Amino acid sequence: MGWGRFLRCQAGRWAACGIDLIYPPRCPICQREARDQTGGAGQVEEWNPDPSPWANAVCGACTRELSADAGRCLRCGEVGGSADGCRFCRQRHPDWRHIAVLSTYAGGLREAVLRAKRPAGDEVSAALASLLVRKHSAVIGSWGVDRVVPVPMHWWRRSIRGTSSAVELSRRIATLLGVPWSRPLVRQRATRMQNELPIEDRPRNVQGAFRVRCRLDEERILLVDDVVTTGATLSACCRTLRAAGAVTVDVAVVARADRSSADA
Ligand SMILES: [Zn+2]
Ligand SMILES: [Zn+2]
Repeated sequence: MGWGRFLRCQAGRWAACGIDLIYPPRCPICQREARDQTGGAGQVEEWNPDPSPWANAVCGACTRELSADAGRCLRCGEVGGSADGCRFCRQRHPDWRHIAVLSTYAGGLREAVLRAKRPAGDEVSAALASLLVRKHSAVIGSWGVDRVVPVPMHWWRRSIRGTSSAVELSRRIATLLGVPWSRPLVRQRATRMQNELPIEDRPRNVQGAFRVRCRLDEERILLVDDVVTTGATLSACCRTLRAAGAVTVDVAVVARADRSSADA
């Protein structure tokens, strides 16, 4: 290595150390500093700084809390079942092929999902995406995905919110999986919030709400959203993607809400 390159390299390291001193790395979920967790008299959790590609490293305590979940059916997402399905999805036949869920929409995960919806929530979305991919890396890897796409938000709602957590989640997931990301789906009318409607009215609310910008012939799609409750929105998206030529649609969501606590 030449001297010039060596010095530039060292300067980069010193600068990074300086930035760490001024802005010590924090867990994006609980905001605790790395040193809060490693230093001190034998206290607390190990810090799992997990270098790139798992940037936005979540601390050990948050990883355990947010990833802990009962085993779920990989076909419909209900608790129980297996990769082949459970008694629920044998009756209902989901419109997607498989679904990967980080955990139940409750407690700390519910708080994190709500924070990710706010304008400054992109860092939280990236952290949740990392947890989701880490938990299901083998399963999602076996699906052979060609493209990652978000469930779209109507442009009007997005301009009010300032961000779309589905967009940020899906972008991060695509980076971690190393596959292309795009937004072929468009929400062509502003639908009422699904959580404001009785469960039986939700499919009608999103019927015909989506269209695609381009053909997706022979593509295997991974569709991403933050929360699923009845699955009516995901189903409408899946049907639109398949009508545009997608050969399979799998789904990844951060949280699955119980129907009683229906919020999405
Ligand atoms: Zn934490
Ligand atoms: Zn099932």
